[in-house]
Amino acid sequence: MKGTPKRLHNSASVAPDKCVFCRIVRGELPAEKVYEDDRYIAFLDINPFSRGHTLVSPKAHGETIWDMDEHDIGELFMTASEVSKAVVEATGADGFRFVQNNGEAANQVVAHVHVHVIPIAMHEKGKVMDRLKLTPEQLAETAKKIRESLARN
Ligand code: AMP
Ligand code: ZN
Repeated sequence: MKGTPKRLHNSASVAPDKCVFCRIVRGELPAEKVYEDDRYIAFLDINPFSRGHTLVSPKAHGETIWDMDEHDIGELFMTASEVSKAVVEATGADGFRFVQNNGEAANQVVAHVHVHVIPIAMHEKGKVMDRLKLTPEQLAETAKKIRESLARN
């Protein structure tokens, strides 16, 4: 099935040289990376909804899922699925959510495709999640656990 190409408005649109996630991919900005291969990268969200909240992105710049071909969309979600197993194991969560925002209306603030992997504990069930304030040390500790889990499996 081939959809009609259409642009989604996003005032956060930027060229790859200014894009925050491209800059993380290029190593120009720091990030708590948990996974990387030649095409995908996963790192902790700096303003997480839960401990272990991870973003999985294609390394190639594209703004929304419509900028990716079907094969790459499949690979992105397969990568996110593998990362989710490590995120859940490392955090002791009981479930997780994938969130993938496209366009400003959907609250996409970083205009580079990404899948949020948000681990959720049973006691958080049904609650509105607020952004946590975590220290760099807490983020580093969580990232280390996720990397270790990925290395084991
Ligand atoms: P979205 O609303 O789907 O565009 O989400 C973008 C996410 O990127 C937000 O949850 C931000 O907290 C997160 N974010 C923004 N800048 C960075 C950064 N430099 N490193 C890690 N996460 C970031
Ligand atoms: Zn980018």
